Amino acid sequence: DAERLFEELREKLSPQGNVVSAAGRQRTIELFGEPLTPQQVVERICAEVKSGGLKTVLEYTAKLDRKEIEPESFRVSAAELEEAHQKADPTYLKTIRQIRDNIHEFQSAILSRDVKVVRDFGQGRVELRQRYLPMKRVGICVPGGAAAYPSTLLMTAVPAQTAGVQEIAVVAPPTDFGSYNTDLLAACHELGVTEVYRAGGAQAVAAMAYGVEGLPQVDKIVGPGNLFVALAKRLVFGEVDIDSIAGPSEVIVLADESADPRFVASDLISQAEHSPGSAVLITWHEPLLKAVHAELDRQLGLLSRGDLARQSLEDYSTLILADSAEQAAITTDRLATEHLHISTADPEAMLKQVQNAGAIFLGHYTPVALGDYVAGPSHVLPTGGTARFANGLCANDFLKRSSIISYDKAALQHDADNVRLLADKEGLTAHRNSVDIRLQD
Ligand code: NAD
Repeated sequence: DAERLFEELREKLSPQGNVVSAAGRQRTIELFGEPLTPQQVVERICAEVKSGGLKTVLEYTAKLDRKEIEPESFRVSAAELEEAHQKADPTYLKTIRQIRDNIHEFQSAILSRDVKVVRDFGQGRVELRQRYLPMKRVGICVPGGAAAYPSTLLMTAVPAQTAGVQEIAVVAPPTDFGSYNTDLLAACHELGVTEVYRAGGAQAVAAMAYGVEGLPQVDKIVGPGNLFVALAKRLVFGEVDIDSIAGPSEVIVLADESADPRFVASDLISQAEHSPGSAVLITWHEPLLKAVHAELDRQLGLLSRGDLARQSLEDYSTLILADSAEQAAITTDRLATEHLHISTADPEAMLKQVQNAGAIFLGHYTPVALGDYVAGPSHVLPTGGTARFANGLCANDFLKRSSIISYDKAALQHDADNVRLLADKEGLTAHRNSVDIRLQD
């Protein structure tokens, strides 16, 4: 029944799923005076921001975040960023720098580089190029409703900087976890991010997509967020580019008898504590499944967010006993998870059998938390089965590419008949003429 179970999990965890609680639905009625769906809420907010600008963003901020912000405080001042940085714990800043260097090292190594292909026909010469240039201006959503995420700033801004993006605008809700969080502001200053705006949710996405007073339109919006952020990004796609539509976090742990049940339980709980988060164990070793089950209970009792994690484990998680390693790999592949942790004696062998996963963690000593915080690949990853076709964020996502084509006259002569033939087939005589006119004398 693994497939059916997963269908249910997918449904619950998709951006359209039931991640809006009953309290959230009630809040929507209070706010909008009618029981709008999250999609309708987002459509309304985006349309109003498009026509009303900054004033509307601030009105929604007052309504949704219960924070009155004056237009002049919408952008965090340079002095505030500097002060946060000055007061920050030096060890924290040192860690930020180390992680920035890790991310930059990996992202520079994978950065796409210009390509040139030359075709020489003796006399004629064709030069074909692919040129990559960074986008000029990018917007980053840093969540701040329920927890602070300096790690998300690192995992989005550093790849953008590695690509060469010049202007980076960060939006974060006006909360102690968001744009009033001094750790986040200090990290912005450390990374040289100078544009930080106090807004969250759909209104922040719309502000960046359309541009409002003091916040010019961006070319691309990236970064995670709750359902309202995800739906707003989907709505403004086309007006600007976006990275992906991310749902809640998820992990599959593939484990054999070599896995330590304590490690596996901690891996499952660390996704579940995202609340909501989905954590799935697939094993073909029954004693491990039983040991993990017992260990989950023990560890949940010891953790500060244990109750939240327990709820996620009950609602969105499962332990699966597969017939064999091969069957486990097939199921894993079909589910195309965000994080895949291969906790087996020979993880490389299992890696060969699985194609679909946003980020893959090999072996007993590579918890997902390393990828979340320090390793180098971005932690912004495809969720909800989209790893079948989507990829984690990386520096290349901030590049635009142009193809460049250059022929001399002899090369044009060489390819002319092929152009003429296709132009005739398509009835596009001006196309044929653009070749003929160059070769008539
Ligand atoms: P958030 O900061 O994304 O959004 C908060 C905003 O949502 C508020 O400012 C408000 O404007 C809006 N909002 C809240 N309730 C609303 C309502 N009823 N109607 C309209 N708008 C409303 O929020 P968050 O709660 O901190 O969620 C962040 C999400 O991002 C979590 O699910 C977290 O797990 C996820 N996350 C993912 C990653 C990743 O890389 N995959 C990293 C960090 C966070």
